[in-house]
Amino acid sequence: MDYLFTPWRYQYISSIKPDSACIFCLAGSPPEAQQNFSAEQLQKLDEERHVIFRARLSFVILNRYPYTNGHLMIAPFQHIPDLASCSAPLLGEMMELAQRAEAALKEIYKPDGFNVGLNLGKCAGAGVEDHLHLHILPRWAGDTNFLSVVGETRLLPESLEITYQKLQPFFQSK
Ligand SMILES: [Zn+2]
Repeated sequence: MDYLFTPWRYQYISSIKPDSACIFCLAGSPPEAQQNFSAEQLQKLDEERHVIFRARLSFVILNRYPYTNGHLMIAPFQHIPDLASCSAPLLGEMMELAQRAEAALKEIYKPDGFNVGLNLGKCAGAGVEDHLHLHILPRWAGDTNFLSVVGETRLLPESLEITYQKLQPFFQSK
């Protein structure tokens, strides 16, 4: 999995200071959620944070530093680091969301395959190691070769805003 060790990933990892707040906690359980915002305002904030869908125990969010277009992550609301910390209902829900993500990405991006996985611990490639998150990304035949040729340049023809607009309705409608 060479593509896990790419220049832009390094830039991302080194930009997170050890004492900085957890991005998954900030996106999943933002302070505004406790206040009297309207559903519309909360939706607007979710859009800004690229939160695609909120389930009961976990949520779906776009990766801000995607390997490919349509790179999604599923994370629990709770700040937990590993599978051992997850309850059975949480594991079940995350897998259901993974199923929906697979269906959505298949329909929208017509990929040849998927990577679905967890990076647990820094040495395994986790950018945020204390808050479990499941990556789901569409893959196309030859995209790894393409990336290695391109080197330091990240070529993503689609902006995160467009990805959000494509995927968000798919999740909301189910
Ligand atoms: Zn967290």
